[in-house]
Amino acid sequence: MQIASATVVAFEYTLTDGDGAVIDQSPPGEPLSYLHGAGNIVPGLERQLEGLAVGDERTCVVPPNEGYGLATNQGIRVPRAEFPDEMEPQVGMAVGATGPDGKTVPLFIKGVSDEEVFLSFDHPLAGVTLHFAVAIRSIRAASDEELAHGHPHGPGGHHHHGHEHE
Ligand code: ZN
Repeated sequence: MQIASATVVAFEYTLTDGDGAVIDQSPPGEPLSYLHGAGNIVPGLERQLEGLAVGDERTCVVPPNEGYGLATNQGIRVPRAEFPDEMEPQVGMAVGATGPDGKTVPLFIKGVSDEEVFLSFDHPLAGVTLHFAVAIRSIRAASDEELAHGHPHGPGGHHHHGHEHE
């Protein structure tokens, strides 16, 4: 079986930047599962994994426009006093803000001073060319339920935070 739409894929990965610094990796022996074609992973990686088979190992280089986007360097400044006492704002932290349309927009803390916190619209990896070293561990057909939910179930898959099963 090859990776295609409506398959659930488990793969191990190491993500590095262009200088070889490790940004993230799957824990040893615990591959990440995703539903192919559902946008669970960054678009450039999903596209490059298409057609691979179990046991294949590749390095996939994903430019920012197919990864976490280009850096816009735009954001908003919020008085530090608006953060609850129990939350210590730290650079790199993700914060959910409610936009005018009621949708939650992810913002990322880029700077903290005594007076204010700078929240950026850019993902911390915006503007970074991603180098994924991947090893494909398993491929199977997705269930109807997984297709309806848009994510895989079972080991390594979605843990069902915030949604109900029928
Ligand atoms: Zn589900």
